[in-house]
This record gives sequence, structure tokens and C-alpha cells, in this order.
Amino acid sequence: MEEITNFIDGKRIKGTSGRFSDVFNPATGEVQAKVPLATKAEVDDAIARAAAAQPAWGATNPQRRARVMMKFGALINENMDKLAEAVSREHGKTLPDARGDVQRGLEVVEFCMGAPNMLKGEYTDNGGPGIDLYSMRQPLGVVAGITPFNFPAMIPLWKMAGALACGNAMILKPSERVPTTALMLAELLQEAGLPDGVLQVVNGDKESVDALLDNDTIQAVAFVGSTPIAQYIYARATANGKRAQCFGGAKNHMIIMPDADMDKAADALVGASMGAAGERCMAISVAVPVGDETADALVERLVPRIEALKVGPYTAGDDVDYGPLITAAAKERVEGLIGSGVDQGAKLVTDGRGLSLQGYENGYFVGPTLFDNVTPEMDIYKEEIFGPVLSQVRAGSYEEALKLTMDNPYGNGTAIYTADGDTARDFAHRVNVGMVGINFPIPVPLSYHTFGGWKGSGFGDLNQYGPDAFRFYTRTKTVTSRWFSGIKEGGEFAFKQMD
Ligand code: NAD
Repeated sequence: MEEITNFIDGKRIKGTSGRFSDVFNPATGEVQAKVPLATKAEVDDAIARAAAAQPAWGATNPQRRARVMMKFGALINENMDKLAEAVSREHGKTLPDARGDVQRGLEVVEFCMGAPNMLKGEYTDNGGPGIDLYSMRQPLGVVAGITPFNFPAMIPLWKMAGALACGNAMILKPSERVPTTALMLAELLQEAGLPDGVLQVVNGDKESVDALLDNDTIQAVAFVGSTPIAQYIYARATANGKRAQCFGGAKNHMIIMPDADMDKAADALVGASMGAAGERCMAISVAVPVGDETADALVERLVPRIEALKVGPYTAGDDVDYGPLITAAAKERVEGLIGSGVDQGAKLVTDGRGLSLQGYENGYFVGPTLFDNVTPEMDIYKEEIFGPVLSQVRAGSYEEALKLTMDNPYGNGTAIYTADGDTARDFAHRVNVGMVGINFPIPVPLSYHTFGGWKGSGFGDLNQYGPDAFRFYTRTKTVTSRWFSGIKEGGEFAFKQMD
């Protein structure tokens, strides 16, 4: 049985706690590795070593740090297939999806190659007699990244690229369900020239997370995961005086107007709701057609598309549309929620429960599931299902659809399908959600914009990646300086002042 390690001071190091968590093959249900769960002492030791490595890295000029990012980006590209395979092996997503996972992380690394430009600071010449002001962005020191299971490459890359390009050291605590990819990325960074100790990967669970939150050396905590844990981490990190950004779960709505291109809307909905088995924080899980005619036309198009989906292990090739859920518990929970939808009166149009694939009978597969006539009181509407389940809530008007979206406690992503520019513009302006798609189902912004949800989907002031990453991972210091050569005796300023 493979024993996963930690990555400390540039080396793979075995955990010493004697506590382990199983890493499953979600397609077969077999345990394929065990991952150590670090103790507080192991976490504190990794932090102390990172603190020793950080000052030299922070003092390295930004262009050199950017060169490490450039080499890292090249190495990610060279190792794309290996990284994608590692993602699929532990997560279960298809290889094209896994490549996308790596690619969207790589794009953030590419943005961070512009660190010298992003870190330039500001300057005011002659703010008063002989007075100049300048501001500089300085690294925070040692920061922590805590990441979820559903993007084993992308989210660790979002966290580490910004933190390291700004000159910080980082302790990365990846999800214990998918630990391998983060270790591979750490090794590639080392090959790219990152000094030992600047990125430490520590595997663990609540004990190691709490150790990160309580250690005074950690200056900032960047978290992505479910909302209850995001709230907990935000509260504990900020109570301990740390900067924190904590991104949580989602319930993303897509409004379909009567004038939308129905075939395109149906294509988009199937991919956005069922892709990656619905285990995406930007998945569309609620379709809100406006008017019964629109709703009926949509269901008519969704059903054949859903029935044509192929569910299977990633090893079955590129024609598989999506793979298993992450754990047996996740499968049980999703199937339980489907049952609750039936019990609470929603119309089950396609039922994904009880799917058994030959040769993979113990895998965590759930078939694509569509509900119609869902109402906001039902558990399938209230809960983030995180499975291949799409709920259709019928709305009588655009205003009703907008209100439903705005009343939802989550605010990660949303979309509207329409041919009308006025409606689209109104929606984009009024909706209280962080990322909006117009005829675009999963509006994950490009790496030079920034990613972040509102309401229960995000806690903290700044978003992930893009310019906000450079704000989050640095402190601004402003210097006001005066030199006296320009001032004549008696205090009169030598240069003519503007009135
Ligand atoms: P999770 O909250 O269970 O775990 C996330 C991280 O927190 C993991 O590293 C885990 O080890 C740690 N953790 C878990 N329980 C903890 C506890 N009690 N105390 C301290 N740490 C704990 O999330 P997950 O199941 O791995 O990921 C899925 C969730 O992440 C979904 O809700 C999804 O919407 C969300 N997500 C959000 C975004 C975003 O940007 N908003 C992106 C991806 C995923």
C-alpha cells in the first residue's frame, strides 16, 4: 500500500503521527494509498522551517521570482499528462476534465509571471516642499493554503502561485482525499528553482488545520471548501489576528428567458450541471426557466441529452462524460437527497440512483438526475448537493427568477440565457452574486480578472487570483520622505510652487 508523504524543506518526508486517512479509487471503492494526518508538532515544525526560508526568498528580486514561475509553468506543461492522471486517479474525474483542472491553475501561474509589474507600488513626486511619497508591497511572511478535494491541481495552484510570487513562504494543506497532485506540484516548483522550505506541503485533517490557524507565525489563511468550514476557519483565523479569505459552497442558478436559444441553453445546462459529476463550486444546480412554455421546451431538450450521457471510470477513455463521486459517503448523501426530493413532492424526470457499472459495482457512481417543479422549501433546493443533480424551479416572470436567485443564501456564480441585451444587462447589474455569465454557463473569470463569490460563498474582502492575489498576499507600506537640498535657507522652497 502506497504511503503518501509530506513535502518539507524540499524533501518527501513520512508523517510521524501514526494517524492515516485512506485515499480511495472512487471508481472501484478500493483503498489505493494512505495519507498521514499531521500533528500540531509536525505543522509547527514545518512553519518554523518555512519562516527560516522566507526572508531570503522575500528579498529575492521580483524578476527572479517571476523566472521561477516561468520555469514552473513550463514544467507543468511538460508534465501535463502525468499531473492529469494523478488528478483522475484520486478524484475520479475524466482525463479531459483533469487536464482542464491543471490548465486553469497553470493560467494563474502565468499571470504571476507578471509579479514585477504587479508589485511596482506607487510614487508621488513632490507631494510637498522636498517631499516624495512612495508605497511598496511587501510579503506577509509565512501564509497557509487549505484546499478542497474537487480541484486537486487548480486550487493549490491558485493559492501557491500568488503567495510565492509575492515573496511569501506557504504551508499548503491539500485535501486528504486527493493529496498526490499537490506533492507533484511542490516537486516541480523545486525543480523550477524555488528554494527549499518556501513551499511546505503538510497533509492532515482538522488537527493540522487548527495548528495552522493558531500558530502566530502564520500571517494569512487562504481557504477553499464547504461553507460551514469556511465560516469556521474565517472566524478562528481572524480572531487570531490573521488576514483570511475563505471561499465556500454554492447553489448556482441559471435563468432561461423565453427568447433564449433553447438548444444552446440545454447543451450548456447539461455540461454545467452534470460535468465532473456536479462536483464543481461553479456547477449550475438550479435551472430557472421563465414561463411554463420555456420550462416544458427545456425539459424536452434536456431529457435526451441527459439520457445520452456516459458515466464511467476515467480509464474507459475520452467518451466518458463524467466519473464517480469522491466517496461512498458522498454517493449515499446525494442518493438520499434525491430520495428527499421525491418525498417532498418534486417531479423526478430522470433518476440517477442505483447505478451499477459492470466491473465497477463498488464505485461511487451516480447517474444524471433531473427534477422538475422544485420549490425553495425542498431540501434539494436548499442544500448544495455536489452531485449530478439538476433542479428546475419554474418562475412566472424575470423578476421572480431574479428574486429567487437573489434570495438564495449562496452567491458564487449565476448565468442568464437570453437574446435580449437589456435583460442581460439588468441581470448583471442587479444580481447579488460574485460571478455572472451571459449566455455562458460556468463563468469562471480568466486568470487576470479575479474569482470570488458573495454571501455564503465567500468570507473576507479580497478575491482569489488576479490583481487581488497581489493585494491579499502583500502589505502596503507607504514612505513619506523629505530631502532638504531643494529648500533654500529660511524655509523658502527653491522650485516655484503651483498655487
Ligand atoms: P471541505 O470543507 O470538507 O474541506 C476543505 C478543506 O478543509 C480540506 O483541506 C479539509 O481537510 C479541511 N477540513 C475539513 N473539515 C475540517 C474541519 N472540521 N476543520 C478544519 N478543516 C477542515 O470541502 P471539500 O468537500 O473538500 O470540497 C467541496 C466544497 O468546496 C464544496 O462545498 C464546494 O462548493 C467548495 N468549493 C468552493 C470553491 C470556491 O471557490 N468557492 C471552489 C471549490 C470548491
